[in-house]
Amino acid sequence: MTQRSLFDDELPPRPAPEAPAVPELPAPTDPPLLPEQKAEVLERLREPALSCTRCELSRTRQHVVFGEGNPAAPLVFVGEGPGENEDATGRPFVGRAGKLLDDVLRENGMTREHVYICNILKCRAAFFEEGRARNRPPRPEEVDACRSWLDQQLAIIRPIVIVCLGAPAANVIIHRNFRMTPERGRWFTHSPYAPWVMAAFHPAYILRLHGPGFDEARASLVRDIAAAREKVIEVRRQLREQGPEAGLAGQPGARRSLFD
Ligand code: SF4
Repeated sequence: MTQRSLFDDELPPRPAPEAPAVPELPAPTDPPLLPEQKAEVLERLREPALSCTRCELSRTRQHVVFGEGNPAAPLVFVGEGPGENEDATGRPFVGRAGKLLDDVLRENGMTREHVYICNILKCRAAFFEEGRARNRPPRPEEVDACRSWLDQQLAIIRPIVIVCLGAPAANVIIHRNFRMTPERGRWFTHSPYAPWVMAAFHPAYILRLHGPGFDEARASLVRDIAAAREKVIEVRRQLREQGPEAGLAGQPGARRSLFD
């Protein structure tokens, strides 16, 4: 039986949600889009996503947090879902965790404009306690309802590398029951979302640590992101050596970039 949240009793019932119209989008098997096409098609996807009512999180969110960054990025970061700051602003990874992610990107010579950042879930999963919304883990049915937005985002972007930030994202992108301790930082090559996928610590998790634990976890995130950037460079070098037919069209490798 579906567990009801505290919120269910506090909000008036809404009419049955109608799924927003989703534009015709490229199938994962279609040839990759050119970078400028990716921006346009991703924008067409964002519009209906912003009014999505496929699950009950639409009743409690302030903003749908679709994702942001470079639509043609070869490197995509995927977290679990928006928290309080993200819900308030409509942007992924803001607040202290976002600042840590920005810092770690910068230490690897990157900014948000070089990558794309999004979440498995586009709306904040929260319950109310003493009048305050508090984060809660998303329910499986909420993850299932939201998954097609992520599927379509990644089918448009077609990244070379995905870094899952935290185990919940890795559970969806890599495999169920993902275990961070033995599996973090390892490459997985069976994901339908990208040829190379790994998991790294979520910045919010790192911020809950103290002393040497914090330093070690932060250093491991820096290393994992460095490895992700190196993987992009390595794959794109291989593709260039194989010639223009090897699949660089639609990847930012079609012109020189930070990842060359
Ligand atoms: S969490 Fe996803 S499926 Fe649920 S309302 Fe938000 S966008 Fe729609």
